[in-house]
Amino acid sequence: QCVQVCPTAALTEAFHCDKVWEAINDPDKHVVVQTAPAIRVTLGELFGMEPGTVVTGKMVTALKRMGFDAVFDTNFGADLTVMEEAAEFIYRLKNNKTLPILTNCCPAWVKFIEHQFPELINVPSTCKSPHIMLGTIAKTYYAEKKGLDPDNIVVVSVMPCIAKKAEAKRPELTKDAHNNVDIVITTRELGAMIKEAGIEFVKLPDSEFDSPLGEATGASVIFGTAGGVIEAALRTAAEWMTGKPLEKIEFEELRGMEGVRRATVKIGDQELNIGIASGLGNARHILEDIRDGRANYHAIEIMACPGGCIAGGGQPYHHGNDEIIKKRRAAIYAEDRNKKIRKSHENKEILELYKNYLGKPFGQRARELLHTHFEERERI
Ligand code: SF4
Repeated sequence: QCVQVCPTAALTEAFHCDKVWEAINDPDKHVVVQTAPAIRVTLGELFGMEPGTVVTGKMVTALKRMGFDAVFDTNFGADLTVMEEAAEFIYRLKNNKTLPILTNCCPAWVKFIEHQFPELINVPSTCKSPHIMLGTIAKTYYAEKKGLDPDNIVVVSVMPCIAKKAEAKRPELTKDAHNNVDIVITTRELGAMIKEAGIEFVKLPDSEFDSPLGEATGASVIFGTAGGVIEAALRTAAEWMTGKPLEKIEFEELRGMEGVRRATVKIGDQELNIGIASGLGNARHILEDIRDGRANYHAIEIMACPGGCIAGGGQPYHHGNDEIIKKRRAAIYAEDRNKKIRKSHENKEILELYKNYLGKPFGQRARELLHTHFEERERI
């Protein structure tokens, strides 16, 4: 049964599995699903597998057997986010626009800044988050390519995160027919649905994501852990800024388990000051330093959950066990190392999307489809 309550029934968790089954069983709907970077290293835990076991292929097979019409990778959306964020960053840097830029993918900090730091509302990148970008592309580019009516496409996101359920309902993301994600479920909900379908997850063979929104790079995988989003963006920004391939692809100075990390990264002749915070208490310190003029960052990353999405609120419970988080994190970096292509701007499906549909990164069409805005809200 796809319902969960706390032991005292004082709290209930919003489960949306029934909506997903309803869509799958509707013959008029074309139902596509996407899975976030951090799901593939945690889903196995719900089936008794060791933390840090990478189950990407089994997860895709399970989703296909559940009846989805196409299984896409949010990592494709993450690569797209990198293209847009790197281009936006370079635009701001060259044109003396607002810096630092704050990478976008975590809806919890979006709410936090809107309410708590409205004076910094121009700091965040205007990029939609990766799963929302993929939802938009599914209902535009993919719909056109397949000759589908966008109104009949249902996009389901499997996320590590409860805040993404609220994000998908934000008015600015739902006002256009071509926008958006229709249903968000968490890793725990997907696990419950796989069990409900009677699928023996551990015994499943591997399958590949579907094309054209399924190819992804190592850069997109590391979105799943704190520090990964900004590292992925820098891999692309650095090569675009210098016109040369990176000598070393990994930015070790941006990695670590601390709640706040500061580093200076040299890109050609330019020194870039980078700040990374995970956990909103830590984010507050970084944002106060920026607001009060005590810090001079070029780019910052904030993830609301300590450790990033591998420790998100929709993931298998880890009860604060650091060893579990470390294993999930190690699996994310191993996935990156095992990828043949590790920079978003080398993703062939992404390049095709820009060539045939979007035009230039951060160009007019890309901005119309892939960017959003944030609003100052009452302080709470
Ligand atoms: Fe969601 Fe937490 Fe990841 Fe933010 S860090 S996107 S709140 S899981």
